[in-house]
Amino acid sequence: MAALRTALHGRLLQTLPFSFGSLRLASSFKAADLVIERNAACKQKPDPSTLVFGKQFSDHMLTINWSEKDGWQAPQIKPFQNLSLHPASSALHYSIELFEGMKAFRGVDNHVRLFRPMLNMERMHRSAERSCLPLFDKGELLECIKKLVEVDQEWVPFSQDASLYIRPTFIGIEPSLGVSRPGEAMLFVIVGPVGPYFTTGSFNPVSLLADPSFVRAWQGGVGAYKMGGNYGPTIAVQSEAVKRGCQQVLWLYGEQEEITEVGTMNLFIYWTNENGEKELFTPPSGWHHSPGSDQTVAAGPVQKLG
Ligand SMILES: *Cc1c(COP(=O)(O)O)cnc(C)c1O
Repeated sequence: MAALRTALHGRLLQTLPFSFGSLRLASSFKAADLVIERNAACKQKPDPSTLVFGKQFSDHMLTINWSEKDGWQAPQIKPFQNLSLHPASSALHYSIELFEGMKAFRGVDNHVRLFRPMLNMERMHRSAERSCLPLFDKGELLECIKKLVEVDQEWVPFSQDASLYIRPTFIGIEPSLGVSRPGEAMLFVIVGPVGPYFTTGSFNPVSLLADPSFVRAWQGGVGAYKMGGNYGPTIAVQSEAVKRGCQQVLWLYGEQEEITEVGTMNLFIYWTNENGEKELFTPPSGWHHSPGSDQTVAAGPVQKLG
């Protein structure tokens, strides 16, 4: 019955817009089809004051499989476990991979809240389209993620300095070495409690390496999409920054050495300008990218906010 329902959903869903030469009709998985298998051996939760970023994971994970032949399968929440992948999986060879980063916070009222999660779903959808991974219904994915957070709600730290980090990930798992659109894919979500991202603390100053010989994103590139391949190559530059006595990299772009980002995040500058006025600047977000447009860099020249 579950299989039949999934197949019917596939047919009833509206066709999503296609691009990049894809004529594939995209249906979606449904949160209503979620199958939940509880973990019988839940782990001890860590002390929130000892947390470092990205090292601890909860008791459950969400997985959703897709294939060209059968479309989306029913989403599953199951005990946190290793993946079993064919060694030729396209994510491993050609970086057909993307991710998101979002958080759930426990308020002083003990309610758990996600921070603007639909914006993460929208960016993830854009990244999927650019990666030739199958499209999905953003609202349905968000419902599945909310369910995962609910199942693992005890993992949302009881602390104002910590939160539950949510890592949606989408990989091509086609077991084939051909450089082509993957015929199999897996979307999975893992979550884990985190403390502050920077060990220096959020309000202590950091020094930045500004060397225009390193470029993170460029016109016509994929810097505006959250692909794993955008991040791996920055580690060597980050090491260079540390070697030169800095904590982070200030990414520059182009002849004018425009400021685009710091490390793995966006940047705001608050200063007093030549006229003695206080100003807040930020680079524009560059996700309004479409092939042929000139808005392809993750960030561009600084923009005055007001
Ligand atoms: C994820 C990401 C950031 C951080 O942005 P958030 O919206 O806070 O997740 C900054 N720049 C780029 C290019 C990113 O992919």
